[in-house]
Amino acid sequence: MKKIIAILAAVATVAATLAFAGCTNNEVIDNNEVVEGEVKEGENAEGDAIEGETEKALTVAEGKLTMATNAYFRPYEFYEGDKIVGIDAEIAEAIAAKLGLELVIEDMEFNSIITAVQSGAVDMGVAGMTVTEERLKSVNFSSSYANGVQSIIVKEGSAIATVDDLCAEGASYKVGVQLATTGDTYSTEDFGEENVVRYSNGNEAVLGLAGGDVDCVIIDNEPAKALVAENEGLVILETAYADEDYAICVAKENTELLEKINAAIDELTQDGTIDAIIATYIK
Ligand code: GLN
Repeated sequence: MKKIIAILAAVATVAATLAFAGCTNNEVIDNNEVVEGEVKEGENAEGDAIEGETEKALTVAEGKLTMATNAYFRPYEFYEGDKIVGIDAEIAEAIAAKLGLELVIEDMEFNSIITAVQSGAVDMGVAGMTVTEERLKSVNFSSSYANGVQSIIVKEGSAIATVDDLCAEGASYKVGVQLATTGDTYSTEDFGEENVVRYSNGNEAVLGLAGGDVDCVIIDNEPAKALVAENEGLVILETAYADEDYAICVAKENTELLEKINAAIDELTQDGTIDAIIATYIK
């Protein structure tokens, strides 16, 4: 099982707390960040302060805040016509506005987001991304802006009625997941490589379930609800598989941007903007 370690980032202390996850209590990092380096006076994430910062290449494209996402993850990011909308898109838009920057969204495979952030192709990843110990080795995470739950989707009448059936000693079910998500890593740990089938997105995983290639799909709860609503004969188990925190990932060296994003998240949490955005999409 994963072991929680206290991770000291350059400017942030990540307080790790345990939540339940998977069959055997995989541990989930609660990314309760305490930013030690205060934003300096006049640099409180408002537009005027940031203009100076963008000159120092705060972001990869001047005047812009470039976000990587995978836009097949309703209601966090999805296409409405050719526009990407959703909870993450709106929160990112609100953060960009606070920073005096124009938001640019780049859609890519979920599996490519961390590399894009690390390599400086984009400024941040906003993709319903769970904070994990493994990912914290590659990128920093902002304060959490939402909670996530890994749910289990099965066909109606499935022999898997609860998470315990799936995790029972001797049980041997094929589990469909989205490649490189926490559903993938936890399932691989719990059920073994040979029992996990990886799809590039939730739609494909659900098609695999409908076609009998897998016995269940483990995926974040809100996308699960959308997938079950769009596909007949599927249900979400009442018992969940894991509890998680979503946050924005930023390159390790860009601590200045991370601080500004955290300051913006803080303000948007306190003034109710983030709750209001979430409430628009999750009833
Ligand atoms: N929350 C999951 C993860 O971070 C899935 C995210 C996603 O598919 N966009 O791995």
